[in-house]
Amino acid sequence: MSESLLIDRFGRAHDYLRISVTDQCNLRCVYCMPEEGMEFLSNDKVMSFDEIVAVVKAGAELGIRKLRITGGEPLVRKDIEVLIARLSAIPGIEDISLTTNGLLLERKADALHAAGLNRVNISLDTLDSSRFRMISRRGGLDQVLKGIEAASRVGFHPIKLNCVLLKGMNEDEIPDFLRMTLEHPLHVRFIEYMPIGHADDTWRSHYLPLQSVLDKAKELGYLVAKEERVKGNGPSEDFRIEGAVGTFGLIHPISDHFCKNCNRLRLTADGNLKPCLYWVDELNVRECASDPEALKAMFFRALDIKPENHEMAEKLWDAAQSHVPTDRRMSQIGG
Ligand code: SAM
Ligand code: SF4
Repeated sequence: MSESLLIDRFGRAHDYLRISVTDQCNLRCVYCMPEEGMEFLSNDKVMSFDEIVAVVKAGAELGIRKLRITGGEPLVRKDIEVLIARLSAIPGIEDISLTTNGLLLERKADALHAAGLNRVNISLDTLDSSRFRMISRRGGLDQVLKGIEAASRVGFHPIKLNCVLLKGMNEDEIPDFLRMTLEHPLHVRFIEYMPIGHADDTWRSHYLPLQSVLDKAKELGYLVAKEERVKGNGPSEDFRIEGAVGTFGLIHPISDHFCKNCNRLRLTADGNLKPCLYWVDELNVRECASDPEALKAMFFRALDIKPENHEMAEKLWDAAQSHVPTDRRMSQIGG
């Protein structure tokens, strides 16, 4: 990625924008939202398709090449495929992916593929339906599995499964997820539980460093080799078990953070450009959505205020951090 003009104070070039299209969701995952007290955006606070397209056009002129559509649950946003078709027609945009909980994917897969979506990541933290109900505070594992099949049928490739590992909740399923890669052409991404908007006791008691995945693989007698980067895998460290059809990856922002290679900006559903997932800093771009030059200036301002790194690893426990951590939850930012 050579031609991006989006270079921050630390020399990092940015070509990737993650767009949250809604903060609404049909699940209530324990690590993402509190059980009660979430306030959702009213419709008039959510970016319109025209506004999102305007922001992406400005970004694409500066070097944004890859987009990820996320949320909340992006597939609950009405006519999401219409937005994807419009984004894929923007000159400069080369790759569009989507992160979904999979519940509506069986129904939407064909339309998403036809609209120009290239890839999907599907969240799947457990293969046990009662546990799925406990983690997501709703149900629907069968529907998610049908969504994965539909994604494969329409030809999305690679298909990645996002599995947030939670101590005492699903760590005993590491072997099942590893085994899944032996026979299926899937990329299973184990993700460390991050304290986004809630560095509290829930996080402290369920955080699990991902070294445990490699330890478990060794214990099971698997020979594991590092894998060439799987397409689109920014911060993931990738591996393959000898003889396996699929691969697995580790995303460990806390035990081994990856900020020095960060190439991404985020756009929240309410129109804030966010340089770092962890900190509070964001810039509202909605006000200037009709002015392409002002939008471009906002991209540069976002880079100017982008910190060198998050401090989830080293300073999380300190009262004094270098910036103020966000109090927004993952579903409100766009994970
Ligand atoms: N609803 C969609 C889904 O679940 O895939 C997209 C939005 S969700 C916020 C995006 C990703 O963030 C999911 O893979 C989810 O597991 C992950 N996530 C949410 N909260 C997290 C946390 N506290 N730590 C690590 N990952 C988290
Ligand atoms: Fe919804 Fe995704 Fe958050 Fe789960 S992780 S509550 S599916 S936004």
